[in-house]
Amino acid sequence: MIELERIEDIYDHEHFTLHEVVLNEIGSFVFIKNRNGEYLYANKLTLKLFNTTLDHLIGKTDHEFFQPEMLKDILDSDRKVFESGHSVVTEEHAVAIPDGKLKVYRAIKNPIFDSETKEVIGLIGVSTDITDIAELREQLTELANTDELTQLYNRRKLWQSFSTEFNQAIKNDTPLACIVIDVDRFKLINDTFGHDFGDNVIVSLAKLIRSNLRKADSCGRIGGEEFLIIVNQTDANEAYEIAERLRIQFSQLPFNDNRQPPLSISCGVTELIPEDHDFFDLYRRADKALYESKNLGRNKTSIK
Ligand code: GH3
Ligand code: MG
Ligand code: MG
Repeated sequence: MIELERIEDIYDHEHFTLHEVVLNEIGSFVFIKNRNGEYLYANKLTLKLFNTTLDHLIGKTDHEFFQPEMLKDILDSDRKVFESGHSVVTEEHAVAIPDGKLKVYRAIKNPIFDSETKEVIGLIGVSTDITDIAELREQLTELANTDELTQLYNRRKLWQSFSTEFNQAIKNDTPLACIVIDVDRFKLINDTFGHDFGDNVIVSLAKLIRSNLRKADSCGRIGGEEFLIIVNQTDANEAYEIAERLRIQFSQLPFNDNRQPPLSISCGVTELIPEDHDFFDLYRRADKALYESKNLGRNKTSIK
């Protein structure tokens, strides 16, 4: 084995400079464009993506290499660099024409200044394919927001969503209601029929809730056998109708066939009032309504 001693041993230094070698091996797309968006340079990886040679690339713009609907992100960030004279870091979703796959690129674009006028005359970009990382990030977010048993929102995501809906409703002066649902005597259900049966009841209720809501409504599991629904553009009377529909449909689920007494749920309903400071005020009031339903003998919906 020849021992590596000098940098010149690695590459054909008669034909390539060290810079060229590094730019071609870097694993990111490196390119230089002028203010008109015309390419002046691209490294080997970029040329491969565009399925072209450096000679052919020079003078061409991104219109040649990206589908029109994908161009916007790219051109927007280029413009930002030209107009601000600052570095811009973006995530660009783009399909390169040759291979047709949607990819996510993290691009760092730096302005190039005219040494005399100090005007921005171009940009140098380094763009890295982060499609794998973006997919993982999406999965992680999904996991962090989802209740494992029911696949509805978990508590963390519910509070986040509730807070957003609350602020939106205040800002737009639109009605907002929430419903809290709790399975009656669930401890007894678990003790009598087993924990797996209990889990099935929770999952069935979750499906029932989701199928009765609009896409824009949020719902999730606060914990145990307790659920929260956030319904926007809806007042307490309309939310009461939704809760009652759920309560009745729950009593008709297959596991309640010939069951005496049938399994039931109790609900608490409330709507946004001017005195509410944050979404917890609403939640607490809905929870009070729920406990009123429990005190009145369960299998009921109450409004506060
Ligand atoms: P109430 O009518 O007053 O609501 O009575 P309850 O028995 O339903 O009230 P409580 O909230 O005390 O009981 C909830 C039970 O739910 C206690 C707990 O063992 C059970 N539980 C919590 N999480 C789960 C779960 O994920 N699966 C199952 N099967 N049971 C759970
Ligand atoms: Mg309960
Ligand atoms: Mg409970």
